[in-house]
Amino acid sequence: MTKWVYGFGNGMAEGRADMKNLLGGKGANLAEMSNLGINVPAGFTITTEVCTWYYENGRSYPDDLKGQVLAALAEVEALMNMTFGDGQNPLLVSVRSGARASMPGMMDTVLNLGLNDTTVQGLMERSGDARFAYDSYRRFIQMYSNVVLGIESWNFEEILDEVKDDRGYSLDTELTAEDWKGVVARYKEVVIREQGKPFPEDPHEQLWGAIGAVFGSWMNQRAITYRRLNNIPADWGTAVNVQAMVFGNMGDDCATGVCFSRDPSTGENVFYGEYLVNAQGEDVVAGIRTPQQITIAGKEKNHSTLPAMEEVMPALYQDLVRVRDILENHYRDMQDMEFTIQGGKLWMLQTRNGKRTTAAALRIAVEMAGEGLITRDEAVMRVEPESLDQLLHPSLDPAAERIVLSRGLPASPGAASGRIVFTAGVAEDWARNGEKVILCRTETSPEDIGGMHVAQGILTTRGGMTSHAAVVARGMGTPCVAGAGEFQVDEHAKTLKIRDVVLHEGDIITLDGATGQVMQGSVPTIQPELTGDFATLMGWADERRTMMVRANAETPDDASAARRFGAQGIGLCRTEHMFFDPRRIIAMRRMILADDEAGRREALDSLLPYQRKDFIDLFTVMHGLPVTIRLLDPPLHEFLPHTEGEIAEVAQVAGVSGKDVRERTQKLVESNPMLGHRGCRLGVSYPEIYEMQARAIFEAAVEVARETGVAPLPEVMIPLVSTPREFELMKDVVDRTAKAVFEEAGLAVEYMVGTMIELPRAALRAGDIAASAAFFSFGTNDLTQTTLGLSRDDAGSFLQTYQDKGIFARDPFASLDVDGVGELVQIGVERGRATRPDIKLGICGEHGGDPASIRFCQKIGLSYVSCSPYRVPIARLAAAQAALQSGA
Ligand code: ADP
Ligand code: MG
Ligand code: MG
Repeated sequence: MTKWVYGFGNGMAEGRADMKNLLGGKGANLAEMSNLGINVPAGFTITTEVCTWYYENGRSYPDDLKGQVLAALAEVEALMNMTFGDGQNPLLVSVRSGARASMPGMMDTVLNLGLNDTTVQGLMERSGDARFAYDSYRRFIQMYSNVVLGIESWNFEEILDEVKDDRGYSLDTELTAEDWKGVVARYKEVVIREQGKPFPEDPHEQLWGAIGAVFGSWMNQRAITYRRLNNIPADWGTAVNVQAMVFGNMGDDCATGVCFSRDPSTGENVFYGEYLVNAQGEDVVAGIRTPQQITIAGKEKNHSTLPAMEEVMPALYQDLVRVRDILENHYRDMQDMEFTIQGGKLWMLQTRNGKRTTAAALRIAVEMAGEGLITRDEAVMRVEPESLDQLLHPSLDPAAERIVLSRGLPASPGAASGRIVFTAGVAEDWARNGEKVILCRTETSPEDIGGMHVAQGILTTRGGMTSHAAVVARGMGTPCVAGAGEFQVDEHAKTLKIRDVVLHEGDIITLDGATGQVMQGSVPTIQPELTGDFATLMGWADERRTMMVRANAETPDDASAARRFGAQGIGLCRTEHMFFDPRRIIAMRRMILADDEAGRREALDSLLPYQRKDFIDLFTVMHGLPVTIRLLDPPLHEFLPHTEGEIAEVAQVAGVSGKDVRERTQKLVESNPMLGHRGCRLGVSYPEIYEMQARAIFEAAVEVARETGVAPLPEVMIPLVSTPREFELMKDVVDRTAKAVFEEAGLAVEYMVGTMIELPRAALRAGDIAASAAFFSFGTNDLTQTTLGLSRDDAGSFLQTYQDKGIFARDPFASLDVDGVGELVQIGVERGRATRPDIKLGICGEHGGDPASIRFCQKIGLSYVSCSPYRVPIARLAAAQAALQSGA
């Protein structure tokens, strides 16, 4: 015989806290509280297995369920000394849904179940309060009709309003017992009108109706959507809790409230909560009456004039404090509790681990470890790495007023205010004059990099979470709202329009990259705080971490930010970004337009000093930490002039005609640049480009070593290699250049040459490539594109459909496709190590900052992960958790 029903109450229970899978979170914790001797109204839980059975058997119940429910109900009757459906002393119950994880979208709780025309008399006698009895009855009819029978609430609210109008009342509390009685009668008419049959009088029929509604709600659209968004499997099922009612609304010695064992917004170890005297259930959160603070301290902090529970009911307050201590010590985590006081007696109705802000999560974890309640390792496991993002960027002052214009995608977190500009060039000009600017564009392209860099924030009206603007902004830690399609950007008229609002160049707006909100005017921001509990917890995390964490950074600013966030090196310095500066792009364009090596070398010579200076700055900031520098990677046409003005300018500098420039540009156009003449293919065709870059790197390294006495550690990375021969050719260029520079300087520094593994062939042939490559960095952005044959720039239009249909569990560009791309990475690791056991292995690209991908990196034994500077703390914490989970 299967046990479908688990009872609890009177200091005992058949269930336990660790039976969440079977009893749901609410049921398991009610059982646990009862076992702990805490006052819990008696009740029983119908298991999640019944839910599964229900759906596997055409929405019916197992034969023996009815008997088990009746037996459990009898037990509750005995414990509460009341009888279900009894005219003198009726037991009333609540019916509550409860999945493993708390789940919005499930059926709302039905209170006061068991009331009918007979039992309401009993309730009246028991309470000595006719008004209360009929008020409870009408609440029940409305709730049950709404939640179980699906009759919309306005049908009932309309009647109540009419009655109040007739009598000249303004508040519900003015209705008399007789008034409520009349309302009940009219409510019942509504039910007949709406569903063609009367409201169920039989309490058992009511009970089974409510149970069926809970199970039915598991498959309603809201619940299905919520499960999909939160990766909750449909076969988990929900449990149903049936529990004796206690009344917080039976007079002034009654109350109801919610409380947290610590402050959920700051994490401070103070008791925190709200309550209402003479109120029922959700009245506290419903906002009909202003709730009062539980503690005197809370009352003072909130400048409330209403008395605290600590003052009004001191003895019960002490009872509640005792419960708080018991539960927090028992669960060893901050608890979120619901309670009701009836006739001077405290009853607990729910406890669970409380939701909290990131700041609170850090403080609670650190303080609980300090109190000895949990270990430091547990503290490290308690904080969600992704949630740290909230703390790492300036954020809008929550107290400040905001005028929201519209909303786009929250593409890169952080808040920023500034003056609107419409081109990268203007952004740079204005920034040079000390203006804070927000770059507004339909979409961005690589040429906008300079402007993006100086902008406080970026707004685009097209493009998704993986659009150019989004990816680059995240990399730079610049707040970005992408794809805000309600706006119209007119670059020529220099306006940003939305509905009837027209903003002009120079007008101030504020972006919140964490929510996607775009606001008019300036909203004050607050700076992130990287000290205190944050620093303590990160310190504990670092002690456990076995993988290094590096950052992807090009500029000294990014590199300093990365170091501030604890990066242990640079895992990816993309050199092409360095060429978009206006003074350099001209030389770059001359180089591309040259028809022979001599012409190219001449242009490259003029780029060398700039490039060398970049590396000097970068090496200086990194102070001896490893810096992986990727040689030129993108197709050359990305650097070419587009506008007539640009074409004329290049033609003049290069001493050729505009026609020549246009022709050459045409020639460089590729139909599929991602798979075209780029990466090491450029170096193979034009070794002098890589030679110049290598020279810049080594001259810089030698100079910094000499000046600072600390030798930089350059790791030169050849991109887009798929064969050993490509790598060997390029390594030879780098080695020869190094040798020449070191001889000229009379000083040598240590360096490495390695490759990016970003093509499937490279992963497969990693064994051969490792014969000459000293390190691999898995470029999982391109490896994902090339493995899935999926262009990152074009996938936006259908990726969501793919996720909705369950083809991809997550965006493969955000979280590594462990089964597919991951297998190639693993093959690369194994084959690379087989050839060269001490090969250095890392990952760069968006995945290096994604906790799930980091877990995978730990599993396959990478030496480091690299991510954007602002994700470094997230990666540090995720790496520590991965190490702890793997038992490293
Ligand atoms: P939710 O999951 O939305 O919190 P609950 O099942 O906890 O739903 O119930 C909603 C409200 O009803 C809560 O305020 C709860 O305390 C109250 N409540 C539930 N069961 C009872 C009961 N048996 N007696 C009194 N109040 C109850
Ligand atoms: Mg609740
Ligand atoms: Mg690449």
